[in-house]
Amino acid sequence: MDRRRRRCKILATLGPASNDEASIEKLWRAGADVFRINMSHANPEAMRETVAMIRSVEEKVGRPIGVLVDLQGPKLRVGTFAGGGVDLFVGQKFTFDSDPTPGDASRVCLPHPEILSALAPGHKLLIDDGKLRLHVVQAEGDHAIAKVDVGGRISNRKGVSLPDTEIAVAALTDKDRVDLEAALETGVDWVALSFVQRAKDVLEVKRIAGDRAKVLAKIEKPQAISRLDEIMVAADALMVARGDLGVEMPLEKVPGLQKRITREGRRLGRPVVVATQMLESMISAPAPTRAEVSDVATAVFEGGDAIMLSAESASGKYPFESVTMMNRIAEEVEQEIVYRSIIAAQRSVPEQTGADAVAVAARDMAETLDLKAIVAWTSSGATALRVARERPRAPILALTPIRDTARRLTPVWGVESVITKDAHDVDDMADRACKFAVRLGLASPGDRILIIAGVPFGTPGATNMLRLAFIAEDGKHAQ
Ligand code: PGA
Ligand code: MN
Repeated sequence: MDRRRRRCKILATLGPASNDEASIEKLWRAGADVFRINMSHANPEAMRETVAMIRSVEEKVGRPIGVLVDLQGPKLRVGTFAGGGVDLFVGQKFTFDSDPTPGDASRVCLPHPEILSALAPGHKLLIDDGKLRLHVVQAEGDHAIAKVDVGGRISNRKGVSLPDTEIAVAALTDKDRVDLEAALETGVDWVALSFVQRAKDVLEVKRIAGDRAKVLAKIEKPQAISRLDEIMVAADALMVARGDLGVEMPLEKVPGLQKRITREGRRLGRPVVVATQMLESMISAPAPTRAEVSDVATAVFEGGDAIMLSAESASGKYPFESVTMMNRIAEEVEQEIVYRSIIAAQRSVPEQTGADAVAVAARDMAETLDLKAIVAWTSSGATALRVARERPRAPILALTPIRDTARRLTPVWGVESVITKDAHDVDDMADRACKFAVRLGLASPGDRILIIAGVPFGTPGATNMLRLAFIAEDGKHAQ
């Protein structure tokens, strides 16, 4: 069985450069653990076809693969212009209104009435990823007059960011609802929600998803930063979505926020994905810049659960080289002498639960005895997550009878999963832990591993057992 030689996971976005079965398999073999389907560029039918290809690769390689469907969210756009676009000049006034007729040098439609009524004097309007900047001088409810601070060309359907405006609309657009339902029916493992503003946005998607998928909240708005605590608790995982975050907030704030979210995510036991522009220059070049290598390394040193590729793997010229490069950087960083001390320094106090007590003890024992693996029997995945939170030196092997659990653990730091039926007793549990540890190349006969579980089996949240096992000479039995 193939396994990774690093703890930090890799998410690769699929797109025109990689959206076929051979490429998906190649990306997986290069190191992609989870595939992301971006619904800003896909419809339900294309999504279903891609998921089918991923599942077919999964079957072929015999390891669980994660699928994350990223909902577009309320991405605001201006309407169209009579001539395709106009140039705006610093100091001029420009009106956003609800009139759908094509715009001109003085106005354009902003086809979101709820936004027009939420705008207030002073609010910034950032157009086209922040290339153009305006601020509202007069807000009239059905239209707003703004003054241009940074000029440039505004053209058909360019994106609009409103960092100062609390948007009362639901976090899910009509398209998102259709895409979400399709994704859940298709059996994807993770759903990502874009432009989250409050915990309620996340809870609504969680309510719809139920136990059909886990929900990741993308942190990309100042409104989310100001309510980070409640959002992080509500979500199953987080993404530091540096693309939009860097448009809506001053760029220099992004690195600090990345560190804060990564650390807090670890403290809470919520996986954190660091995303966007990680190897940006590899969209068109076969090797990254030194700064990009350093950026990927920083996320790995920080103990982030996963690092993500966007256009690099979706539409760039070098999708496989990008994954290979990320894989190499992560492997190398984790071998660095200072890596363990950085990871250990960020340890936080466990919660007063049986699962955390066992997880802390497992990490300690594995370190003291230089054990080759911590094998967690888990049905919901919660036990594996709490062990991952300890960031142990030994690899974590999650054994689960539930295929969805194995797939949902793919973006989690340090966890390798194997699907196997529930053990019938404690000896069977130890035997099978040994067998899979050997089969995955984590341990050899004569090595010792640690096994944790909740007995009786299948009782979520009942992690209460820890057992040290020697792997016998046949590699199968515990002694
Ligand atoms: P996106 O999200 O690629 O869907 O915009 C990630 C980001 O904003 O960084
Ligand atoms: Mn985004």
